[in-house]
Amino acid sequence: LPVLAVVGRPNVGKSTLVNRIIGRREAVVEDKPGVTRDRVTYEAEWSGRRFKVVDTGGWEQDVLGIDASVAAQAEYAIEAADAVVFVVDAKVGATDTDEAVVRLLRKAGKPVVLAANKVDGQSGESDAAYLWGLGLGEPHPVSALHGRGTGDMLDAVLEVLPDAPEQTFGSAVGGPRRIALIGRPNVGKSSLLNKVANEERVVVNEMAGTTRDPVDELIELGGVTWKFVDTAGIRKRVHLQQGADYYASLRTAAAVEKAEVAVILIDASESISVQDQRIVTMAVEAGRAMVIAYNKWDTLDEERRYYLEREIETEFGQVAWAPRVNVSALTGRHMEKLVPAIETALAGWETRVPTGRLNAFLGELVAAHPHPIRGGKQPRILFGTQAGTKPPRFVLFASGFIEAGYRRFIERRLREEFSFEGTPIHISVRVRE
Ligand code: GDP
Repeated sequence: LPVLAVVGRPNVGKSTLVNRIIGRREAVVEDKPGVTRDRVTYEAEWSGRRFKVVDTGGWEQDVLGIDASVAAQAEYAIEAADAVVFVVDAKVGATDTDEAVVRLLRKAGKPVVLAANKVDGQSGESDAAYLWGLGLGEPHPVSALHGRGTGDMLDAVLEVLPDAPEQTFGSAVGGPRRIALIGRPNVGKSSLLNKVANEERVVVNEMAGTTRDPVDELIELGGVTWKFVDTAGIRKRVHLQQGADYYASLRTAAAVEKAEVAVILIDASESISVQDQRIVTMAVEAGRAMVIAYNKWDTLDEERRYYLEREIETEFGQVAWAPRVNVSALTGRHMEKLVPAIETALAGWETRVPTGRLNAFLGELVAAHPHPIRGGKQPRILFGTQAGTKPPRFVLFASGFIEAGYRRFIERRLREEFSFEGTPIHISVRVRE
């Protein structure tokens, strides 16, 4: 069974929370007395899934002194766990000891769910919100004592807890980056794929322990192996028949879902169509890194080029952040620019802005360009944190309602300041009362 460790400073309520998780069925599965510490493991179940919970509460009276003991117990438990619930006392806020544990958690690289305990009333909610500052993602407000919020917290745990430890082996961790080559019929997807596959090496997949979807192809480009997902539908020319568009769009959606980066092919010789826009929107909404490639460049005359630029401005202004390459699958023009563009987009997609830097930037921005006054009040952005990557997600805390125009302004400035080329970014604003 997968193992969940519950760690945190003394008196934050770890044991109470563990009792909640196991539903007070204190069935001790393992009891391993150590020399100076004991670890107690329970079996728990939530939403039909079973896992083990390690209570580290017994280590609190370590002779090493409180801080050393917290670090030691955390380190020890984290090492053996598949996921960690880190408990912080929301009433007290993050202490130096908490910060020290956060550093340990980072180093260990295990998935962490942050529980902000002792949130018994409304005011506690905003106390919990401050714990975004720990950089561990969303704080889950809970009251271990009353049971409030523990269900939501456990849902979050199940999301990060592997089914069984073995299953993490051979899954997508590491492995080649996944590209979805998409675009409406006849833009040249199959030609482009053939071009890159013929000029470069198609890698015969021999990775031990991994199962590969036969419709994915491994192709080495620029010295790196990439996985082009769902290529069967690209190579096999589907003869146009009724409903073909519908299936093509389903296939596009499936490919985007499996990929990290979408390379969207547009036929530059024709007007940008509604279908092209739909495909772009699909990739943005799926939160994928994105590169736009304008194909059939060999056929363009000066006039068409002029109109194409105007069309790109009006139709794709919203995705001006996507790297652009002008290619020809026929002649091979600018094919070498494809990989650097993909790498740029993936880098943007994975960018993480440290909380300190983000808030220094937001502080200056808000001071120089305050939100317009509304109803005699001036809503302010108080604090922000990057809640995630792939794509970058930000949560901003504000003192009042922030208008859409101002949100767009913040997004634009964030893009200018940090390297978010080739990636959508999500910004959500929470209003603190
Ligand atoms: P798919 O449906 O997106 O896979 O498109 P195909 O690769 O089958 O290409 C559709 C048509 O466009 C074929 O007749 C190709 O020869 C042609 N085509 C593809 N790329 C180019 C290009 O860069 N230049 C020109 N002139 N024709 C191209």
